[in-house]
Amino acid sequence: MTDIEFLDLRAAYIELKAEIDQAVTRVFDSGWYVLGAEVESFENEFAAYCNARYAVGVANGLDALHLALLAVGISAGDEVIVPSNANIATWLAISHCGGIPVPVEPVEQTYNIDPSAVEQAITKHTRAILPVHLYGQSADLDPLLALARKHDLHLIEDAAQAHGASYRGRRLGAHGDVVAWSFYPSKNLGALGDGGAITTNNASIAERIRQLRNYGSPSKYVNAEKGFNSRLDPVQAAILRVKLRHIDNWNKCLRRLAAFYLQGLANTDFILSHVEDWADPVWHVFVLRHHQRDALQRHLSKAGINTLIHYPIPPHLQPAYCEAGFDATSFPLTSRIAHQILSLPMGPHIDSAAAERVIESGLSFASQAVDIY
Ligand SMILES: *Cc1c(COP(=O)(O)O)cnc(C)c1O
Repeated sequence: MTDIEFLDLRAAYIELKAEIDQAVTRVFDSGWYVLGAEVESFENEFAAYCNARYAVGVANGLDALHLALLAVGISAGDEVIVPSNANIATWLAISHCGGIPVPVEPVEQTYNIDPSAVEQAITKHTRAILPVHLYGQSADLDPLLALARKHDLHLIEDAAQAHGASYRGRRLGAHGDVVAWSFYPSKNLGALGDGGAITTNNASIAERIRQLRNYGSPSKYVNAEKGFNSRLDPVQAAILRVKLRHIDNWNKCLRRLAAFYLQGLANTDFILSHVEDWADPVWHVFVLRHHQRDALQRHLSKAGINTLIHYPIPPHLQPAYCEAGFDATSFPLTSRIAHQILSLPMGPHIDSAAAERVIESGLSFASQAVDIY
């Protein structure tokens, strides 16, 4: 039996090869290789997809977050409230502005930021809240928006794992002040290289990010501020335009697979994610939890099933953040999640036979584990 890959990126390319190759050739033939019409077309199409007025393409997801934070005015000493169980990039973006990531624990059943913990973390130095729509499920935005209004804070969303997900029936893209996206190849909307974008309904934030991504230049040869070089590559923009036409189909496959896993692994000692009734997740990854996670991972691996851990070491325990003085007891729920969580193979290429193998192998472990008690 062949191994079940965690995510088969090559299969995704092969499925769209004719369209992608044609789009890439169009860019090469155009003679225009930085920004330009291809990037603008993608920006317009992606903004429309996200129900946002503006989209601005940048080099990657970290830059999207960094420029979004700069555009709302985050600077040295500003506190930004962020999930303790985030991707390291979410924290880095705050640090690169001179800001201070103020971590709060998630809701255990959904892994998304807990609005009541956010409220407790607000101080006179707080300037923004930065929720992550983790694993493809929207964070609870209404209470966060209410807190932002009440305390005069910005709401910046990290939607790098949630292309196409909705909150209360409306697609993510413009609930907060600005939304940051990554098109890293494994994301639900993935380039064949690096890419990122921001979406917003705020014209001045969009303009500021357009300027920051291009040397701080509002018009040719004029530099209004010390900007960056963080432009979305037109070759990647052309590829993303192709993939945007297929994302709803692929997200549908992911939803079907997630429903299959949820049903097949119910009533075991696996802890499965809870889906809120206001959320319509896109299952960027399918996580479950078990107190013998490492044994489970070995068991699946022996059966040829590749899994990953999102994430084994939370940002506050990374050497990069040692100066903050956190330890394993600082965020006990986050530490427990990091020890128990496992991501199953997920992707539009996983057929029902593969999905059944994952469930069978999972169930044989779950029953073994129950026998030990
Ligand atoms: C992937 C990811 C990022 C970073 O995106 P890059 O394009 O790799 O810089 C940021 N936040 C989250 C939640 C992510 O999953």
